[in-house]
Amino acid sequence: MSFDTILIANRGEIACRIITTCRRLGLKTLAVFSDADAGALHVRMADNAIRLGPAPAKQSYLNIPAVIAAAREGGADAVHPGYGFLSENPAFVQACEAAGLIFAGPSAQAVAAMGSKVEARRIARAAGVPVVPGFDAAGADAAAIAAAAEQLGFPVLVKASAGGGGRGMRRVDRADDLASALTSARAEAGTAFGDATVFLEKLIDNPRHIEVQVFGDGQGGALHFHERDCSVQRNHQKIIEEAPAPNLPDAIRTQLFDHALTLTRTIRYAGAGTVEFILGRESDVPFFLEMNTRLQVEHPVTEAICGVDLVEWQLRQAAGLPLPLTQGQIMPRGHAIEVRLNAERPDQGFIPATGQVIDLVAPRGLRLDTGVAPGSEISVHYDSMIAKLIAHGP
Ligand code: ADP
Repeated sequence: MSFDTILIANRGEIACRIITTCRRLGLKTLAVFSDADAGALHVRMADNAIRLGPAPAKQSYLNIPAVIAAAREGGADAVHPGYGFLSENPAFVQACEAAGLIFAGPSAQAVAAMGSKVEARRIARAAGVPVVPGFDAAGADAAAIAAAAEQLGFPVLVKASAGGGGRGMRRVDRADDLASALTSARAEAGTAFGDATVFLEKLIDNPRHIEVQVFGDGQGGALHFHERDCSVQRNHQKIIEEAPAPNLPDAIRTQLFDHALTLTRTIRYAGAGTVEFILGRESDVPFFLEMNTRLQVEHPVTEAICGVDLVEWQLRQAAGLPLPLTQGQIMPRGHAIEVRLNAERPDQGFIPATGQVIDLVAPRGLRLDTGVAPGSEISVHYDSMIAKLIAHGP
């Protein structure tokens, strides 16, 4: 590899998972941590670890200057962002490049283009990839937005262009409710993402969410690693994911792969990405939803059926090595299911729970990706998703 020490700009199960692959490849790992994570598993697993700052993510895992300073201090020459935190922040990609660090991910330009759902929809449409029927509300007045909603037909969704995790999203069933939904979605998006841009989408009733794992060589070449079905959700957030998608007609599967590769090639994408689609239950036309320019939480089901290590692929890409397989060599085998393990209080409506992990026992024969071990503290500061269990069989 063209680098030998990599900073993992993340925490929890994904930091641990990345460290495991780095170690197998003989790379040195540099962890970063907040005050809440001084004794965390990822800190103990890494070769070296540097404190970023206080517990709140803004002062630690989201603090770009602190991460860059840690890379300097720890002698890192590359950075893996994981998912969440700074992974889809174009300013972070630029900061890494400016500091002479190799960023294990796509270009700042690709991250910025796909980080805007409005821009991503525009690029997809221009490339001939069908998008969910919708309306770009930026710059349109109230009357024009109301007319567009009427034409799409209720129910519609108001969505935040910079949105994620279901935030900044409002279902609107009647024309009378549109104005207030626009106001509240804009306010939520502005606060959560610093960008109040919203757009309309036709609501697809009881949809299937199917996504394609892609990998680009940065020069217009691209491979896919087949699809994942993430239709089992709670509050528009995935909780169980599987690969391949069950009962998916081959004609639709082929369309999904074609569309995903078209988009990946069009933007000359580099590295691992996911192109998400939504499919009506009775429909045979998959619509493009968005593209995530990072590793996904649910990537292990793809690794299971395709027999690859996507983090290794990312590191090879970052080192400037060619893609190790051709499309014909990527043959899915069997079926894989992942469940996310969240620290929650079922007796209180599944609110996030905090406390100490007393014990953790994984079922034999399953893959456990975990960010905690017996004795770990689960704090209020971060995601309640603490581990994932992945099963794979014929
Ligand atoms: P996020 O950035 O939060 O992943 P998405 O646009 O991917 O935002 O939406 C998250 C989830 O919300 C999807 O997986 C799907 O279940 C639901 N959703 C999004 N858009 C639509 C739509 N037009 N119709 C129905 N459900 C939708």
